[in-house]
Amino acid sequence: MRSSVREGAIVYRYAGALYLNITNRCPVRCSYCIKYRWGWRFRGHAMRLQREPSVREIIAALRRWRVSRYREVVFCGYGEPLLRYQVVAAVAGWLRSRYPGVRIRVNTNGLASAALGKDVCPALKGKVDVVSVSMNAADQRTYDALHRTHIKHPLACIKRFVQRCTRFVPTVVVTSINHPLIDQRAVRQQAAFLGVAHRVRPYLEAYEGARSRRPRNVRCAQ
Ligand code: SF4
Repeated sequence: MRSSVREGAIVYRYAGALYLNITNRCPVRCSYCIKYRWGWRFRGHAMRLQREPSVREIIAALRRWRVSRYREVVFCGYGEPLLRYQVVAAVAGWLRSRYPGVRIRVNTNGLASAALGKDVCPALKGKVDVVSVSMNAADQRTYDALHRTHIKHPLACIKRFVQRCTRFVPTVVVTSINHPLIDQRAVRQQAAFLGVAHRVRPYLEAYEGARSRRPRNVRCAQ
């Protein structure tokens, strides 16, 4: 079923891909996060989960879609998916075995390992094709200006996460939103230093508000 509005959507379609919303927990509060401004909705989908779905429930939700028609399945949603890294690994493994042609991506803020006190990267090996890390800053001061978190030295944690990820995932990308406070050149240099690509993402609220010109690489909250 592909209804336009579903309470607590687990699977939703966006920009030619299927997205998975598996948790609303997040160790960061980003100043630009659309979930607060948009009342927990995203393009007609209610994203606030009544509770976190199990692996079985996520797979059951995916079975309602023709997954093979989509180029990509993305763990994203309104929360940090890697806080449930074992669930990500289990669902990604299921997807991999059934739809080997579909790319599997995780959009993350890069802080799950720090928040959980455990290196989550090895669990992604052989299951996830791309990890997209929302770093958004080349220095701690800029990061702090845009994000609030209880995690100490978050930018250093994110960089460590990126480096660990490159050992287990074929493609790791650092991203930053198109925001006046962010020095994109500096972030790109940091990404190069870490050995990964960098991509600038449109500021989603501005993008969704605009009717003209549709930029590529539009992503969800992260
Ligand atoms: S944008 Fe992503 S990382 Fe930031 S608060 Fe929202 S869900 Fe969390």
